[in-house]
Amino acid sequence: MAVSVQLTHVTKAFDTTLAVNDVSLNIEKGEFFFLLGPSGCGKSTFLRIVAGFYKPDAGELRFDDTVVNDVPPHQRNTGMVFQNYALWPHMSVAENIEYGLTLRKLDKLERSEKITSALEMVQMVDYRDRAVNTLSGGQQQRIALARALVIEPSVLLLDEPISNLDAALRQQMRDEIKQIHDRTNITMFYVTHDQVDALSMADRMAIMQDGVVIQVGTPREVYQFPKNAFVASFVGETNFISGKVQQTSNGSAAIETPVGMLHSETVYHDLSEGTSVQCSIRPEALIVDDSTHAENTITAKITAVNYLGRIEEYQLVAADVPLKAVHYNPGTETKKPGDTVQVAIAAAAIIPLPD
Ligand code: ATP
Repeated sequence: MAVSVQLTHVTKAFDTTLAVNDVSLNIEKGEFFFLLGPSGCGKSTFLRIVAGFYKPDAGELRFDDTVVNDVPPHQRNTGMVFQNYALWPHMSVAENIEYGLTLRKLDKLERSEKITSALEMVQMVDYRDRAVNTLSGGQQQRIALARALVIEPSVLLLDEPISNLDAALRQQMRDEIKQIHDRTNITMFYVTHDQVDALSMADRMAIMQDGVVIQVGTPREVYQFPKNAFVASFVGETNFISGKVQQTSNGSAAIETPVGMLHSETVYHDLSEGTSVQCSIRPEALIVDDSTHAENTITAKITAVNYLGRIEEYQLVAADVPLKAVHYNPGTETKKPGDTVQVAIAAAAIIPLPD
């Protein structure tokens, strides 16, 4: 049975490093929850606290209504999948998966049935008797998943599970892991520094920096309404234009910037006149050489063009500010480096974030 997981003011330090710093979060039963952040921000430590490998120095961890701070890992019914698979290479697929069932003292028939259904879940039934060291990386990661799933964990913990795989296989595994979650409805934590993993699979995600949770939200909330410049640049690509607020009213603002006055209609921070801000504008919101009316138009010079088939990227500079624009479905005509263009930006796409 899946459980809800609640962290209240959880802290864990190593010497002087606060790896997890006063984190409070409620993860619902059956939620697919992501921890996203740069290397060293505390993601793995967080996961190990939930697994029981580390005890918090302060704060409380609950599974449903039970405080589990002092419950050892093997009594928490958590499954774990690591980046490096952590399988026994000379044992067969079935032997690797069977281990957790033997510990739980299930009889042979029951063990065999559960191995079959775990292998079905990861589409590896035909590999049951193969030695693990004869499998590809992607196949080994499926077996690691099956081994974690076979014990029917209350919480499944995944630590960068697909980062060793090539791009095509990663995409396939993203789809499969999401399907496994949808089918089993296990509460799942997934640690990654890859925003595509998080954006494509998460119910909700927490963005971490230096042990602190900066923002929690659905992928859409975090991408469209980042809390600060760090989140805006970590989740998706963005441009920043610095400026000073001239005027604000009802969710809109006029901001004085080196590229001219910018009008924003996406103001969700408390900004007063004179506040320094970074205006976050996603590359897809810069419409190069647009003839239609937009609330903002800036003059820019193209410095480079990258044609990538499905999209075309423009590197631009406007009043010494470097910018990137992305144009979807490029046609046969293109712009050239050196061209001066008018760039249209909708007011809704300009997000002023406190500096
Ligand atoms: P990565 O993506 O590189 O795995 P992470 O976000 O998972 O990083 P953690 O491994 O949780 O980060 O580490 C958080 C901080 O705590 C880092 O500064 C790290 O050096 C430190 N740290 C983690 N484990 C230990 C340990 N066992 N002893 C001392 N310091 C540690």
